[in-house]
Amino acid sequence: MKVLVLNSGSSSIKYQLFHAANWRVLAAGAVNRIGEPRGEFSGRWRDADGEEQGFALDQTIANHREGLGRIVARLRETQVLAGEGDLTAIGHRVVHGGEAFQRPTLIDGAVMAVIRGMSPLAPLHNPANLAGIEVALNLFPGVPQVAVFDTAFHQTMPPAAYRYALPEELYKAHRVRRYGFHGTSHAYVSRRAAALLGKAPQECNLITLHLGNGASATAVRGGESIDTSMGLTPLEGLVMGTRCGDLDPAIHFYLANNLGMDIQALDDLFNRRSGLLGLCGVNDMREIHRRIGQGDSAAALALEVFCHRLRKYLGAYWVELGRLDALVFTGGIGENDAEVRARTCAGLEGMGILLDEAANQARGQGERRVTRAESPVAVLVIPTNEELEIARQTLEAIERIDSRSGMFPASSTVS
Ligand code: ADP
Repeated sequence: MKVLVLNSGSSSIKYQLFHAANWRVLAAGAVNRIGEPRGEFSGRWRDADGEEQGFALDQTIANHREGLGRIVARLRETQVLAGEGDLTAIGHRVVHGGEAFQRPTLIDGAVMAVIRGMSPLAPLHNPANLAGIEVALNLFPGVPQVAVFDTAFHQTMPPAAYRYALPEELYKAHRVRRYGFHGTSHAYVSRRAAALLGKAPQECNLITLHLGNGASATAVRGGESIDTSMGLTPLEGLVMGTRCGDLDPAIHFYLANNLGMDIQALDDLFNRRSGLLGLCGVNDMREIHRRIGQGDSAAALALEVFCHRLRKYLGAYWVELGRLDALVFTGGIGENDAEVRARTCAGLEGMGILLDEAANQARGQGERRVTRAESPVAVLVIPTNEELEIARQTLEAIERIDSRSGMFPASSTVS
């Protein structure tokens, strides 16, 4: 039986098809530039002999319906998907679940209405996620579909961590609080970290650092998020590719009063023109290292600011947790950038991090430990896999509901 994972953005749909028995990826790909004159559709799949095959096409894709239609047609043509009965479930990434969703949830009309109601909190994402859900429900009416929320993992945060020091009215009537994002990634690497440490997730205190274009840090106690660096939106916290992260809120007034910037201009500045890009003109960490190599002082400062902010969160979360089993690096930068890891861990021997320089520098792929065997706190590099986590959570949700109510037809239950 198979699980299809869909991640629908405003102009794209990414997909992965998993075999539920062993979580092998049977097919993966994306349609991009939906609604633009030149759309793209690319992907790869395993043929009957297990050989990987690929394709890349330029074609106009009018809307999400057409995009998903092409994906499904391709899955059938290449025979990785036989028909509706071949699908156990579809898992959808949904960015904002607010306080309504603390776990993966079987999608029905009421759930869709609540997701729609969250759109003011994620105006770019939730409507796009819903567009994908609507099309998938139409194409596969008999297949259970599950929403997996980026915010859900952080719903275990206590009020002290999620409330802003703002009037209560703003929280109660307008839902202004910290939610956190990247939850699927933090959940996945937390579970893998526990496995690598040979412990149950309930026994592990972790700080997980998801460092990609977007970046966030999470304090995980006993498998649950107790604090995270993103807030009401993904703008708060760490320095990111183009987002500024934490700021003095009075900067807004200053810029409005003295530079005449309006809300739109501030939004654009903080979300798209700041972060690493704002500091040194590029947001790609590899290019920043290249420029540092050429003596570019702005690039050097950008790296310093990035790591300085990271260490502030590391210190704060370490104190919140009291005891730390492992620090986990993931995301494009976390997984690949030995220098960022080394700078983040520099001088922390007295606190229990004994970095293994050679292991940290080794160009490895896959999960690995980059501290010495005797290091009291482990530093782990764990490639994230949000699609796999969505697939697993989707199946778990189906099994949970199925065991309670037996509500799905036999063709869609898990064998
Ligand atoms: P997204 O958040 O868009 O999914 P990724 O997780 O792919 O992004 O991370 C993108 C970031 O990872 C970019 O800043 C990129 O420069 C960085 N990155 C990717 N590979 C390397 C590498 N080998 N060394 C340093 N940084 C890298």
